[in-house]
Amino acid sequence: MNKQKDSLSTDSKESETQHKRHFIQEVIEKDLAEGKNDGRVHTRFPPEPNGYLHIGHAKSICLNFGLAEQYGGKCNLRFDDTNPSKEEIEYVQEIKKDIRWLGFDWGDHEFFASDYFDQLFDLAVRLIKDGKAYVCDLTGNEIREYRGTLKEPGKDSPYRNRTVEENLDLFNRMKSGEFPDGSRVLRAKIDMASPNLNMRDPVMYRMLKAHHHRTGDKWCIYPMYDFTHGQSDSIEGITHSICTLEFEDHRPLYNWYIEQLGIFPSKQYEFARLNLAYVMTSKRKLLQLVQEGHVEGWDDPRMPTLSGMRRRGYTPESICALCEKVGVGKTNSVVEFQLLEHFLREDLNKKALRVMAVLNPLRVVITNYPEDQVEELEAVNNPEDESAGTRSVPFSKVIYIERDDFMEDPPKKFFRLGPGREVRLRYAYFLTCNEVIKNEATGEIEELHCTIDPASRGGNSPDGRKVKGTIHWVSADQALDAEVRLYEQLFTNPNPSKVKEGETFLDYLNTDSMKKVTAKVEPSLRDATPEVPYQFERNAYYRVDSCDSSPDRLVFNRTVTLRDSWAKISKKK
Ligand code: ATP
Ligand code: MG
Repeated sequence: MNKQKDSLSTDSKESETQHKRHFIQEVIEKDLAEGKNDGRVHTRFPPEPNGYLHIGHAKSICLNFGLAEQYGGKCNLRFDDTNPSKEEIEYVQEIKKDIRWLGFDWGDHEFFASDYFDQLFDLAVRLIKDGKAYVCDLTGNEIREYRGTLKEPGKDSPYRNRTVEENLDLFNRMKSGEFPDGSRVLRAKIDMASPNLNMRDPVMYRMLKAHHHRTGDKWCIYPMYDFTHGQSDSIEGITHSICTLEFEDHRPLYNWYIEQLGIFPSKQYEFARLNLAYVMTSKRKLLQLVQEGHVEGWDDPRMPTLSGMRRRGYTPESICALCEKVGVGKTNSVVEFQLLEHFLREDLNKKALRVMAVLNPLRVVITNYPEDQVEELEAVNNPEDESAGTRSVPFSKVIYIERDDFMEDPPKKFFRLGPGREVRLRYAYFLTCNEVIKNEATGEIEELHCTIDPASRGGNSPDGRKVKGTIHWVSADQALDAEVRLYEQLFTNPNPSKVKEGETFLDYLNTDSMKKVTAKVEPSLRDATPEVPYQFERNAYYRVDSCDSSPDRLVFNRTVTLRDSWAKISKKK
């Protein structure tokens, strides 16, 4: 009954590609064969510390750290911290925790783009001296207007032909904070008629008198992403700089800076980002959910952040398995959420300790059982793992079963309890229902009066007679109360970033994404900790909540149901 029937059909094409090398592995193997970069493979994972990592980042982490592992190379962790107004030290710490949790280690290869601010400044000065960068006084709006469109070329800035001396003087004065924020920028002098908008004299530096979490008040100019990223890659000797497809159009600029400066030629490769149906993977929007209180924080168990998923009970193994399965390609697509749940169930099935918990209790009085007797019965902790051993579960005259496991007028195929019927109480006894006690006013069933067959102790048939159903139960006096949080998807739209005109992604928030119930759970759970996954038998996988649970108040998060009921429901809609 507890066996998992969760075989998600995987077509042969998909499993074929799993064994083939993906295009980045092909590039690396070709480079190695040609003896490029002295046979080195050096990647990096470059998060901006402006939010928590989400499931999409996991793909980039698995890819970058995975390639380094596979080819005996290195992977740097580099914080891309060039925007002090949005970045915080809290994010740096949480990002590190999440990467370690996924199972990767960057050793002492921890860097910050801000470590290179002096070098980046010097590189910018070199471009000015070579006549390849200039200080521009146009406002932000004017720069946008002058840039032109995809159909029309841009116009040269009136400041484009300043002399090297003037540019050097102005850039140094920008650095010393002589001008107000936003009044001047440094731009690369490339080509205002380029078909690629990124090449139309992109901004390299902007003025911003903001406190930086690492460099303090030293700087009031900050380098832009494009000028920082490739140069940081080059400074670190990164051989394969892997990013998502939206940066494809930035590659000519990435290469332009490196070529003009004649620095180490890191190469950029783009792959398709991971998108999951019903999941929001934009840090900016996740931040909005947190700031506006739609969720309880970055680590709310409904969030697609790694910290939220960890708290909910997802395992790093299941997330890495998903990333592996999805593969590395060049076309953006949306992956079904069920695929992640499939890997999660597979993993939890191996690891979770089985326990009994009743979410919607119905009282059962066993009329032929002695009043004060409490028996300890042996229960298996994990049928998938003998080494998990057994525990004892108390049994007594009054127990709780699930309300759903009883029907007063059951249809043919209902194999659980009904008047005059016999079922097996898991690990305990055969139980027969003799009487249904109802509330006289409401007609609601209040309790059942049943008898057990004393000869069936342990749940074994005394005479070969069979029962069709086995149900779980807890002993009323010994059971603990636990708050159980049942989660559903946070969004009702499979692609919550794509909304119709006049709507925002918030219009698709699922207002029913969390339900709390008070369950009766077996007493062994008194010592449950968030480190251990549990399966409430016949129900779902659960995890102790790492924030709200305490010895006086047990709180469980439902990680994932045993069967994919959500997928079935969504298909029906
Ligand atoms: P977001 O789109 O959520 O704001 P981001 O790209 O701005 O993400 P970064 O901190 O810059 O966030 O991301 C670090 C790395 O993770 C980058 O190399 C980025 O390409 C990669 N990454 C971000 N989102 C995804 C995703 N959904 N799938 C794969 N890689 C991703
Ligand atoms: Mg980014």
